[in-house]
Amino acid sequence: MDFTLSEEHRMTQQSIRKFCRVELDPIAGEIDREERFPAEVYKKLGREGFLGALVPQEYGGSGSDLMGMYIIKEELCRSAAGMGVSVTICTLNFCHFTCRFGTEEQKQKYVPPVVNGDKVAAYCLTEPNAGSDTLGIETRARRDGDRFVINGTKTFITNAPIADHFIVVTRTSGDRSIDGATNFILDRGMEGLITGEPFEKLGMKCSPTGEVFFEDVRVSKEQVLGTKEDGFRDMFTTLNAERALAAATATGIAQACFDASIRYARERIQFGRQIGTFQFVQGMLSDMAMNLEMARNYAHKVCWLYDQGKTIRHEASMAKLFASEMAVKSALDAVQIHGGYGYIKDFPVERYFRDSKLGEIGGGTSEIQKLIIARQLMRAT
Ligand SMILES: Cc1cc2nc3c(=O)[nH]c(=O)nc-3n(C[C@H](O)[C@H](O)[C@H](O)COP(=O)(O)OP(=O)(O)OC[C@H]3O[C@@H](n4cnc5c(N)ncnc54)[C@H](O)[C@@H]3O)c2cc1C
Repeated sequence: MDFTLSEEHRMTQQSIRKFCRVELDPIAGEIDREERFPAEVYKKLGREGFLGALVPQEYGGSGSDLMGMYIIKEELCRSAAGMGVSVTICTLNFCHFTCRFGTEEQKQKYVPPVVNGDKVAAYCLTEPNAGSDTLGIETRARRDGDRFVINGTKTFITNAPIADHFIVVTRTSGDRSIDGATNFILDRGMEGLITGEPFEKLGMKCSPTGEVFFEDVRVSKEQVLGTKEDGFRDMFTTLNAERALAAATATGIAQACFDASIRYARERIQFGRQIGTFQFVQGMLSDMAMNLEMARNYAHKVCWLYDQGKTIRHEASMAKLFASEMAVKSALDAVQIHGGYGYIKDFPVERYFRDSKLGEIGGGTSEIQKLIIARQLMRAT
């Protein structure tokens, strides 16, 4: 067993870390306060090749693997977590998905402009009446000659207010079955496709989230993405990778919590001593370091499995669940270590705390991860 990063992954880590220190750290607090997606940084990420992990070189990507993407996402989230969330939708849910299931024409048309940072993408699954209950989606694509007519509403969609392209999961037949779903690629500007105002959120404020409405959107069959009538199965393969990457959000935030806390524990003097010399504070710091190490190591293993071509179903859920809960606890402790200063916006830990909570909700809640893990355990025993 070799736990060291490959030379390529180490170089990726060094370069994205440097990028974040220069481009993101100085504005992370400001874009959170202003609830602003930093389009200029997104463009630079594209120009420097950070949006193209998991995308073959012929479509402008770096041809890297899930591990490469994990490393990029963790560093983005360590700096400004919302940026990591928005980028993952573009790289994994849109580009990787399109490269995996799209036609040659779709790959050439849609992937390079997102990979180079000129276009932003969204992935539309969740609906007002179908969150955890994915198979209950009500957005319908009805056949009309050689075209489809799409009607429905998607909600909580990352990047929706600014996206140029949208992958949309629809029902083309049946009701509540795993069969009968079809995915489409749609473009902003299509008649009947309307996006709502960005939601005001607790955290991840630099990542715009909103609704997408489809009112008799007429599309040609060339807009079908992947296997017609089997869109859910296509989608679930990406969802597993998304869950492994949710662990990167968590470890990035938890690393930021640890960095801030250890710094503060050395600087802050009470009772004539550094607060880091008090055993209660030391306990929080060592729990943070230990849990972060556990979460990252297991998430790396899950990425490695995926990159070996193995299925990562309950493994991805375990990585997401453990890492997300660990990040929320680390963020709580980071606020605690900072005392009153942890509760005000002059220090970044209150942002980490707000950002960390999404991990237990987005991409499948913690309860749903437990169901997936338990189902697998029941099958295996
Ligand atoms: C900031 C943000 C960004 C997002 N981005 C996207 C995106 O880009 N694309 C997209 O498609 N979606 C996106 N989502 C949606 C996200 O994936 C859903 O919010 C999530 O899956 C939960 O669905 P829900 O909100 O409808 O909650 P619900 O499903 O209504 O769940 C409510 C509560 O009930 C519990 N619950 C539900 N069913 C069960 C059960 N069977 N057993 C036990 N407990 C259960 C849940 O765990 C939760 O605690 C985003 C959400 C947020 C907040």
